[in-house]
Amino acid sequence: MDQRIANDSGESFLTIEHWKKRIEDALAAPDAAGPIRNINGEDQREFDAIFVGGGAAGRFGSAYLRALGGRQLVVDRWPFLGGSCPHNACVPHHLFSECAAELMLARTFSGSLWFPDMNGRITSIKEVVDLFRRGRTGAHAIMNYQSKEQLDIEFVLNAPAQILDAHRIEVAGEVIRARALVLALGSEPIRLDVPGSALKGVHDYTTLVETLDYEPADTVVVVGGGKTAVEYGCFFNATGRRVVMLVRNRLLDIVKDGETRAYAIDRMREQGMEIFEGATLTALIGDTSGRVARAVVETPAGPVEIATDFVFAALGERPHSQAAVEALGVAIDEKGAVLVDEQMQTSVPGVYAAGDVIGAPMEMFKARKSGTYAARAITGEKVSYKPADWPDFLHTHYEVSWLGLGEEEARARYRNVVIVKMPPDNPNGLDIGLPASDRTMLYAFARPRLSGFQKVVIDGDTRRVLGAYHVGYGAKDAFQYLNVLVRRGLTVDELGEMDELFLNPTHFIQLARLRAGQRELQNL
Ligand SMILES: Cc1cc2nc3c(=O)[nH]c(=O)nc-3n(C[C@H](O)[C@H](O)[C@H](O)COP(=O)(O)OP(=O)(O)OC[C@H]3O[C@@H](n4cnc5c(N)ncnc54)[C@H](O)[C@@H]3O)c2cc1C
Repeated sequence: MDQRIANDSGESFLTIEHWKKRIEDALAAPDAAGPIRNINGEDQREFDAIFVGGGAAGRFGSAYLRALGGRQLVVDRWPFLGGSCPHNACVPHHLFSECAAELMLARTFSGSLWFPDMNGRITSIKEVVDLFRRGRTGAHAIMNYQSKEQLDIEFVLNAPAQILDAHRIEVAGEVIRARALVLALGSEPIRLDVPGSALKGVHDYTTLVETLDYEPADTVVVVGGGKTAVEYGCFFNATGRRVVMLVRNRLLDIVKDGETRAYAIDRMREQGMEIFEGATLTALIGDTSGRVARAVVETPAGPVEIATDFVFAALGERPHSQAAVEALGVAIDEKGAVLVDEQMQTSVPGVYAAGDVIGAPMEMFKARKSGTYAARAITGEKVSYKPADWPDFLHTHYEVSWLGLGEEEARARYRNVVIVKMPPDNPNGLDIGLPASDRTMLYAFARPRLSGFQKVVIDGDTRRVLGAYHVGYGAKDAFQYLNVLVRRGLTVDELGEMDELFLNPTHFIQLARLRAGQRELQNL
């Protein structure tokens, strides 16, 4: 039977505005809204695959399978396709990081040029969170519209799926069968587990955007030292609050080039962030209203207590694999990631998995690509997907992008490593107005040390680029493409042959050209 969602006039075409209202209603009252079905009753074929979870992996896998001529169904407990990225992860992270960059600029130039006096001013965290919450359904609506009207995807939304066996799920009271299942269940934040973690005012990235209902006072404690901890911590700091970061091991260990990591961390400290490495949060103590009031911390220098009404925990994500393990017995690793081969096949025949549920790297590129590889494998193509040598980025108050080897790793592997970087080594420190480009021009002229850092790591023998690192703004896009060229063996000479759009956020092209004439490459 045809089960296609229709608008109020009974027509099956739904506008983006219609979707927006429908999603908002369903988020406000999921049970009252009921399941949202788009199943084509005229297509009598069995489903080739059911994607359980409609995030990046499930939606892209669905679209690809459909494009290949297969029949798919995607099921999500939320009333929209697209998953956690636009709902509580990448998109709010980018909004907060943009605020951090804007606020750092405003605070640096406070009271000068056209900038208002920000001295002692704390700006609202809650207003930005509310802004996100109000606006996020726009992206959800576009994805539902695109999935239904343009990609011809079949779905059941606003309805959790229960996996019955390797070919069947139950959703919205119906048992549905397919030739294959694709587990695209995503991940969930690792919850803080110390006495007091259930107190009001203790948040992670999911609860922050759903339940923040007060304005945090003046001190924020951030637990964690990875991407999310730093991204959210820098935003809280930029709002004018004291931010104390509790890092069990090393902050930003993910950035493998030592100088780049040091530049990023030094600028965080310069913005007033307090960083305790080797520190463990042992307890949170509440006030009489049940809100967090103090954090008790073990540091290498001894125990410390920090007064705070807002704790943000960013301990990483855990694959959301439990239900699949219980229903199917799929094999997982010690972190709970579903084990798959290069065809995205799990240990259970006919069951595939993609996205965060298969573990690191938990990034959008892998979720989307692995979803499409699962689709291709299901249609009989011999595929091989194993993420390797991907470019990466994170936000501090800046955008930090990188690819390939850092200087230390390159020196351990190659005998003749040449470095081209900006600013150059300078005995008097960083006060040189370069690099300068988009969004760092004001810093370059007024506070040169804040105008960024960039480095290319080269093998002097083969002249090949081994790695590239950038702290600034606007270079992330270039890294996507540069990474492909580096993997294909890009040399310093080829880099110098490119045509720069000057002033370019990465100065790599013109710096490479300055050195490319040398037979024996030297540092710059
Ligand atoms: C704070 C934060 C910021 C991030 N920022 C970035 C970034 O800037 N760039 C980047 O590349 N990556 C970023 N990521 C990572 C990125 O968000 C994930 O890698 C990506 O969203 C994973 O997609 P997925 O499809 O595997 O999972 P999800 O998008 O989480 O999809 C899983 C889906 O499964 C559904 N589901 C679960 N159980 C059931 C069930 N029983 N029945 C029906 N549906 C179910 C869920 O509702 C969800 O929609 C960030 C992550 C975090 C935490």
